[in-house]
Amino acid sequence: MTKSEPNLQPETVAASHGVAKDTAFHAVVPPIYLSSTYAFNGFNNPGSYDYGRSGNPTRNMLGDALAELEGGAGAVVTSSGMSAVDLLLGQLTSSDVIIAPHDCYGGTYRLLKARAGKGHFTVKFLDMGNLAELSNVLDAGASLVLVETPSNPLMRVVDIQAIARLAKKAGALTAVDNTFLSPALQTPLKLGADYVIHSTTKYLNGHSDVVGGAVIAADLEKVEGLRTWATVIGVIGSPMDSWMTLRGLRTLFPRILRQQETAGRLAEWLSQQKSVAVVHYPGLRSHPGHRLASKQQRGFGAMLSFELAGGTKAVEAFLQELKLFTFAESLGGVESLIVHPATMTHVDMTSKEKLVAGISDGLLRISVGLEHPEDLLSDLKRAAAVLS
Ligand SMILES: *Cc1c(COP(=O)(O)O)cnc(C)c1O
Repeated sequence: MTKSEPNLQPETVAASHGVAKDTAFHAVVPPIYLSSTYAFNGFNNPGSYDYGRSGNPTRNMLGDALAELEGGAGAVVTSSGMSAVDLLLGQLTSSDVIIAPHDCYGGTYRLLKARAGKGHFTVKFLDMGNLAELSNVLDAGASLVLVETPSNPLMRVVDIQAIARLAKKAGALTAVDNTFLSPALQTPLKLGADYVIHSTTKYLNGHSDVVGGAVIAADLEKVEGLRTWATVIGVIGSPMDSWMTLRGLRTLFPRILRQQETAGRLAEWLSQQKSVAVVHYPGLRSHPGHRLASKQQRGFGAMLSFELAGGTKAVEAFLQELKLFTFAESLGGVESLIVHPATMTHVDMTSKEKLVAGISDGLLRISVGLEHPEDLLSDLKRAAAVLS
């Protein structure tokens, strides 16, 4: 891995990693290397790259930038967030136990259940906010603790440092899915985690035009383990996607900072509406994770959810009126999106599972984009007006 100059601020890393490094033509923007194969220097003498599955200069440039932003020893860029999770799971054996959040991302939940069902490992789902229970489960033996904070869609916040400490004491590793905040707002490796996972589809690329993922590890040995396994199974990100994600990454900081500012305003407004039963946003003082989020995050992020008091009927009427918020899955792009978790992201859950997870029929989740806050507010106001 190539390191850029030490001691740069993360904003600078995002904006400048790989810029003006082209030795062939002094291109300011890093060139994209599409080649699947590389000529050997001579007999039994490969160059720094030999074949595109094991390494690609464009993909590696993105990986190095992400590793630097997260404070890791290296990163592996994958074809999706799910393949990033699966790459990490591939480090486990059938005798291993994973502890995962009961309210983790739906795709992760499905993957963990499916692989456990095939005997690849054992999985135990629990509420990571309950450290005493986690401690008990860890005592029974575990290899990996998977963490998501803030959670989807209720924005619950759990203590990364405390979890990583407990895990370490029990001989388990900790992996944090940092998709919802990005390294601009949270750096789990600095809080003691061993791995960070990303769906780069979201904030890192930020323009809703790439599906990709990454795993970053704190130490080099683990990076090598991931790199080898990624080459074995071939879950690599494409050069084009990597190049586009690197381009998106340039503006990560200004995007997410502006988006979270707008999110804070929308959350405040929503929390004052009679038609809204509850708003889940860690930036609100009323949010149960507010203090912890203030301590462990550098900002409250641009994701929030809220429950319409009128249930499904209210949701339908509300969505009908929205013009700026697009009714679509995913998050982290420049455009504001709204989803109905019960029928979209969490549709695979049974009614009972949804009830336990707190996903009611009136719940809506929004990903706040870069539109002017007043325009977004007007959109919400118009929609809310039909509810009263
Ligand atoms: C979207 C998402 C994933 C899955 O990523 P894909 O790029 O869609 O495969 C995993 N974790 C979280 C928290 C996500 O939001």
